[in-house]
Amino acid sequence: MIMIAPGLPALPRRAHIREVGPRDGLQNEATILSTAQKLQLIDALGAAGLDQIEAGSFVRPQNVPQMADAAALFAQISRRPGVIYSAIAPNEVGARRAVAAGADMVQVFLSASESHNRSNVNMSVERSLAHVANMAAIMRGAGRPFDAVLSVAFGCPFEGDVPIPHVLDLCARLLDLGAEQLTLGDTTGMAHPVLVQRVVLAFQERFPRQPLRLHLHSARGAGLANILAAMQVGVSAFDSSVGGIGGCPFAPGAPGNLCTEDLVHMLHEMGVETGLDLPGLMATARILEGMLGHEVPSQTIKAGICKHLTDSQGSR
Ligand code: ZN
Repeated sequence: MIMIAPGLPALPRRAHIREVGPRDGLQNEATILSTAQKLQLIDALGAAGLDQIEAGSFVRPQNVPQMADAAALFAQISRRPGVIYSAIAPNEVGARRAVAAGADMVQVFLSASESHNRSNVNMSVERSLAHVANMAAIMRGAGRPFDAVLSVAFGCPFEGDVPIPHVLDLCARLLDLGAEQLTLGDTTGMAHPVLVQRVVLAFQERFPRQPLRLHLHSARGAGLANILAAMQVGVSAFDSSVGGIGGCPFAPGAPGNLCTEDLVHMLHEMGVETGLDLPGLMATARILEGMLGHEVPSQTIKAGICKHLTDSQGSR
């Protein structure tokens, strides 16, 4: 733990970051990268030390053409030892394809609100849970772990507040189905630090032994504040996207994945270890800019690493 001062909450000494850029990021880009470009991106992210990389999605190509090459991509990843290359699956067909393609872990999504779930997959939450149960059986049969992601857990763009007890009830259902990892998503960036702490504390009270991962967005600028708030109540596993690309395709006009470099820069400055090579991540974000043909939202690649500024200019 990192102690700040008596009376102030301590912080975890180490944080784990899952990189979601190759999927959550790229699927929101108008430019469709080639399989070779995606492989280069994924390899660079692995080289920078990321050991969990969301590499692709087994949705219908008509729905998300950016991810149409997922099977070919997984077949060609030059796998680094210890790195988990995960995939998204929206249904049983996707889960079977993901398993067959060699995804190490599969992510299964459920919305915390009825309206978002219907907007996302055109069915009720209850019906989605029946599909999740079938997908869990497919993963169990193949010996693959799955990560259950509960979307809009901190607010729904259609319904507003999502009651915390309802979020926790859905978490219980997902854990009962055998999820090895549970992620709460702030899919459209509606969370704020106080809400993050309320949700996390309620989660920990109900599931004291269950680790929790957060997928926070920064659509309204609160992303890094929400990270700090989560760390103050003991969360140390987060999702972020290289360059800060991507958001939610089903909530129009909602950008805002947290940027991996910005998150890592803040954590390192606070003394929180990530095991990641920040200059390597920044170089990767610049490569990504070249591939996409436009600037990425990353602040750190524009402003530079604080410690490097003082290294080159002498201390002030
Ligand atoms: Zn996201």
